[in-house]
Amino acid sequence: MSTAREAAVDAVTAWKSTGTRINFQETPVGDLFGVNVFSDSVMKDRLPSAIYKAIRETIKLGKPLDPSVADSVAEAMKTWAIEKGATHYTHWFQPMTGLTAEKHDSFLAPTGDGKAVAEFSGGELIRGEPDASSFPSGGIRATFEARGYTAWDPTSPAFILENPNGTTLCIPTAFCSWTGEALDKKTPVLRSMEALSKHALRILKLFGSKAEHVYATCGPEQEYFLIDKNFYFARPDLINAGRTLFGAKPPKGQEMEDHYFGSIPERILACMLETEMELCKLGVPVKTRHNEVAPAQYEIAPIFENANVATDHNMLLMETMKRIADRYGLQLLLHEKPFAGVNGSGKHLNWSMSDDLGNNLLKPGATPHDNAQFLVFLAAVLHAVANYGELLRVSVATAANDHRLGANEAPPAIISVFLGDMLQDIVEQIEKGGAKSTKQGGTMTIGVSVLPPLPKDAGDRNRTSPFAFTGNKFEFRAVGSSQSIGGPNVVMNTIVADSMCNIADKLEAAVKAGKDLNSEIQALLPKLIAESKKVIFNGDGYTEAWHAEAAKRGLPNKKSTTDSLPDLISPKSIALFGKHGVFTEREVHSRYEILLENYKKTIAIEALLTYQIGQRQIVPAALRYQAEVAQSVSNLKGAGVTVPKTQTALLNELTSTIEALQGALDNLSEVSDHHAEGDSLAHAKYSHEKVIPAMTAVRAAGDKLEGLVAADLWPLPTYQEMLFIK
Ligand code: ADP
Ligand code: MG
Repeated sequence: MSTAREAAVDAVTAWKSTGTRINFQETPVGDLFGVNVFSDSVMKDRLPSAIYKAIRETIKLGKPLDPSVADSVAEAMKTWAIEKGATHYTHWFQPMTGLTAEKHDSFLAPTGDGKAVAEFSGGELIRGEPDASSFPSGGIRATFEARGYTAWDPTSPAFILENPNGTTLCIPTAFCSWTGEALDKKTPVLRSMEALSKHALRILKLFGSKAEHVYATCGPEQEYFLIDKNFYFARPDLINAGRTLFGAKPPKGQEMEDHYFGSIPERILACMLETEMELCKLGVPVKTRHNEVAPAQYEIAPIFENANVATDHNMLLMETMKRIADRYGLQLLLHEKPFAGVNGSGKHLNWSMSDDLGNNLLKPGATPHDNAQFLVFLAAVLHAVANYGELLRVSVATAANDHRLGANEAPPAIISVFLGDMLQDIVEQIEKGGAKSTKQGGTMTIGVSVLPPLPKDAGDRNRTSPFAFTGNKFEFRAVGSSQSIGGPNVVMNTIVADSMCNIADKLEAAVKAGKDLNSEIQALLPKLIAESKKVIFNGDGYTEAWHAEAAKRGLPNKKSTTDSLPDLISPKSIALFGKHGVFTEREVHSRYEILLENYKKTIAIEALLTYQIGQRQIVPAALRYQAEVAQSVSNLKGAGVTVPKTQTALLNELTSTIEALQGALDNLSEVSDHHAEGDSLAHAKYSHEKVIPAMTAVRAAGDKLEGLVAADLWPLPTYQEMLFIK
């Protein structure tokens, strides 16, 4: 009889491709891009021009949609979808589970004479009514008041999801309670984009811009692991927790540094190509693929888009990757830390702002006028991070991401900004320049000086910085690989909107009082920079010295989710989100409760799995081997042979390690059964402080046994097998 592990290894080595062959010669990528998207050009072709114009205004400038337009759009959308083979439509939304949700409805409506026609009205396009009580609401919805609404988001295009047996029209929607409270990830993204646009436009207007709208732009670089599905199925921890709860470090990990940018194995590349083709059809502009640092780890990066669409597209990307990997016998692992001891996965969130004329507001300009504007927006971002770094930390706080932040592979939990030497120097000059309005030796004069060309930060040089300026955008690097980028985008948009609001307040007042804009900016920037300076750091974020220095600067270092989350409900945070109409106080509290609950449940599931795997797989394997060794010792004795010391030593070590494992399991069981007193924070803290260490102790003993027990008795696929057998 072989173990599940041995069966998995056999199955992996026997794997043969049965996949379809894609021929990009017959169907060039250019012909495929966006074929499944109800895009601008489809609308232009199919809608009466007045309707098309109205919907364009809504999409581009955020103007409210006239309900009469919806009927016309719905009709065109339905016809298009049915031509694409759709039988059903769904309001596609992103509840607080962090996943996407869909409830399919057929287009068909009976006519009463035994026939049926395809129907889809503007009303059905605009609003859906799923049951809200079955999604996390943090206390906003009780079961008896279950009504929830999904509301069409015309700014994110509808798309067709293909299945071998038919297709479905998916309509991106926001999800809220019938009282209008946000129950999802999209609603606050849209609200925060509004706030961002409003205040960025105020500044642009001062500079004489004709722009009518500003968008946050965003390009998330997504890291992930792919392992063979047979291994996955033999690991209850991967199936249920997304990460390995046991597993000794393999003899070879990533120390040879031979995986990063290495050649991509054929099966993996085939899977990537098909994934990219599917994404291409969905209009997700995928650009880059490469091997990542850890064995079996890869990265995929799209071209940036409007942050709302980018958020939807990143959800689609994660789902598509998972779906297609399956066709290649592969399992996608999006968890932030699937394997201890090798790098985990993150998602670098590249973020900037762009106006509707296509200008990137964080692009240093070629003229003094452009530079003054660039420096104002740059200072706004710096000031936002200095003021609200703790909220950026909150936006990436999850049980899974705790394994990365501060583990010397991802940025530390201290939020600082990397500017690069050149920009740092400019910022320092400005600060020194104070309110002087004439050019002096070495100081920047706003509206007069030209910036030297800034070098683009070279790749990984400052991997340790959680927030880096990279030439014409910022890169927020602490985001977890599995999380929706909705939360981080909401925080970015809101804190920068707030900064821009404060700046606009001052500059508008000065201009109104007849003062010169450039002199006002020259006076304001040094103040903003002085107040932001504490977060600017260009050095190595992993060093002890930085941690000490950061503490001296008064920068928070919230190492765990439970340390960080209370910042979400601080009066400062509630005031910020309230001021910009992003969250009401009740919504902030509901999110806080959901995040804590999620943390606690994640740890509880992991604890249970650790117990089960330890008790039902590892202890039995170890006992079997112990019996074998004991038998061999007694055989030798029976034959009158002196038992070698090494053999009794092995038996003793096995015995004591099994005892340690069983002791740790008993303790874990006891700790898990105990319920902490107090509020949800107390519960989450208990998980962090008591349950996790108890799990760690079980793992230590379990992993030690992996190094002792005979390989043919070991039940779980090992790290070596999962990471290197492809
Ligand atoms: P780098 O090598 O500095 O990381 P890349 O050009 O490879 O830069 O871009 C990385 C990601 O940043 C890509 O997803 C890209 O689309 C995105 N990006 C580039 N410009 C912007 C921008 N203005 N706003 C948001 N994201 C951007
Ligand atoms: Mg990058």
